[in-house]
Amino acid sequence: MNRNEPITKLKGIGPKTAEAYRRLRIETVGDLLSWFPKRYDTFRPEQPINTVRDGQLATVLGTFTGTPTVNTSGRRSILMCRFKDATGTIMVKWFNAPYLRKQISMANYVLLRGKITWDRRTLTMVQPEIYTPERYREMMKTLRPVYGLTAGLTKTAVAKAVAEALAVCDIPDPMPAGMRRELGLWSLKDAYEEVHFPKSEETTKEAINRLAFDEFFRFLLGIRSLKEQTETIPNRYPAKTTMLAQRIRASLPYALTGAQERCFAEIASDLAGASPMQRLLQGDVGSGKTVIAEMALATIAEAGYQGCLMVPTEVLAKQHFTELTRRFEPMGIRVGLLTGSMSAAARREARTAAETGSVQIVVGTHALFQQGVEFANLGLVVVDEQHRFGVEQRSRLTQKGGTPHVLLMSATPIPRTLAMMLYADLDVSLLDELPGDRLKIRTAVVDTTYRPKAYRFLRERIGAGEQCYVICPLIEESDGLDACNVTEYAEKLREELPDARIGLLHGRMAAAAKTEVMEAFAAHEYDILVSTTVIEVGIDVANATVILIEDAERFGLATLHQLRGRVGRGAKQSYCILVQGSDSDEARERLCVLQQAPDGFAIAEKDLTMRGPGDFFGIRQSGDNVFRIADPIRDARILTLAKHAVDGLSAEQYRKAVKLLLADSEGPVVY
Ligand code: ADP
Ligand code: MG
Repeated sequence: MNRNEPITKLKGIGPKTAEAYRRLRIETVGDLLSWFPKRYDTFRPEQPINTVRDGQLATVLGTFTGTPTVNTSGRRSILMCRFKDATGTIMVKWFNAPYLRKQISMANYVLLRGKITWDRRTLTMVQPEIYTPERYREMMKTLRPVYGLTAGLTKTAVAKAVAEALAVCDIPDPMPAGMRRELGLWSLKDAYEEVHFPKSEETTKEAINRLAFDEFFRFLLGIRSLKEQTETIPNRYPAKTTMLAQRIRASLPYALTGAQERCFAEIASDLAGASPMQRLLQGDVGSGKTVIAEMALATIAEAGYQGCLMVPTEVLAKQHFTELTRRFEPMGIRVGLLTGSMSAAARREARTAAETGSVQIVVGTHALFQQGVEFANLGLVVVDEQHRFGVEQRSRLTQKGGTPHVLLMSATPIPRTLAMMLYADLDVSLLDELPGDRLKIRTAVVDTTYRPKAYRFLRERIGAGEQCYVICPLIEESDGLDACNVTEYAEKLREELPDARIGLLHGRMAAAAKTEVMEAFAAHEYDILVSTTVIEVGIDVANATVILIEDAERFGLATLHQLRGRVGRGAKQSYCILVQGSDSDEARERLCVLQQAPDGFAIAEKDLTMRGPGDFFGIRQSGDNVFRIADPIRDARILTLAKHAVDGLSAEQYRKAVKLLLADSEGPVVY
């Protein structure tokens, strides 16, 4: 079976199950195979009760003690009991499981595995799994893949479907077989099988590396071919006059930095050049990329073409739409918005406006552009925060109706050596200067005992009329728990700071609800925004001056730097408090890099050297990857190997590989 066949071709997947998969954007058999577990559950040895900490996923060995109680309120019942070992006691709590009562009173030595939280000043393990010691020893030898499931899909059903897909699906490998053997790489089929049905930590790591290699290989192959293609294409949207760009420049309450001027000049020269622009604008958070995009869009609109701005989230789309409308409407340029939370009718209207050319600039989320928007004459595509975009989406839009100019904007600084491989097809403009009025964000690395002090500090800043972000601890046991985790955290914070108006944001909220909360925060209807990392990208609220990040050590430095960039966007002194949840010196040392490093690039370099390969056992470090399984920083060594492999292809091998790549992917070649 070809991997582009719909998953309904697999046994046991009917329309209803297919719908559940579609919500996860899994439509083909290939999508299913590449839907990797987001992590693996490992079963660690038990720990003494006196060492468990808030937020941890812990296993303890002991006995139940005292009398279990069942409290029923409404339709919910809570079963509670105490559990002890030689070092201490914790509370254990289950929801809606009164039947467990019998079991626990009879149990002898057992192991409990679950998340620890503070509940009414008592360390509590919530909804633990119960194991006999023998059973737990068995579990310790295994890995359990954890998928980001959705309603209507169970672990067992997924495992069955994946097994079936592995059995019937061809998995073509664009790499020549001889080369693969020479490099001693697994077959792709074995690697897919191992990742979904892991045998051991070691072999799973190897399989992940193999798939990362494949991903890099395809990517670099795509780049090589894309580069060859675009070099020969003429510029069909030459745009020269920049009167409107000049008007924007003149209307700004500040002067552009030297770097902004230089980058815009590079873009302007591309727009007027012989072939379409393929440029990456790389600039640290807060370096002022938006205004450059606006000037480029103005230039293209003035020349009589259309432009679009693609962003990763609804919140950002709305924010940019508001700003662009304010800027462009007085110049007679019409701006349209296209997001998923708009009504179907409004979306249709926006599409028609793009199609007929009655709007010159369209702002929207990439998901929507991907579903196909026809433009009357699209001359420029700007993609903001490009690291969030899948490569296919990018190229699909590029190919839409001719070859428009493409400007990718990214705040993810990546080390130069990696950039040269990943962006080989692009010209790069570097925005290496922050606007002069910025004060350095004061950054502190603290442990959890500092929390009360930190909260007092938040209260003080709020008293001064400023606003704060609090980024919630990450949860290992995910699957929807992160939503309940932020909610819980916000509740606690409300107790600590009863006067503060606290808003809540997490990934499980509907897009419209997210936008609403963000807008309310921007309008200062909240003093504090408690959020998961959904906040990370691009949000611009100048009045926010403090960001407190819980469990900071669990994030990559680059992500932390991005998060920190949410503050320090105005002229006021801003602060970043990194709360370290575990006391490891190594983690502390890593976090301290953020206090000293001068900019994002220095941080990225550090990230690369401090994160040795194989430091992380898990598939996705964070969501900000264009790759599904590979991480260019973590897997830098593999990226380099893949680069050598692609460069080493003979003309004949290269031609064959590209052909396979084209046949294998639904869309055009990716970059
Ligand atoms: P990013 O590069 O992170 O996307 P933005 O474009 O959102 O940054 O700019 C951050 C803030 O800096 C915005 O409020 C913007 O108005 C402001 N800004 C941009 N350029 C300058 C400048 N040259 N001088 C002062 N402020 C600027
Ligand atoms: Mg931005």
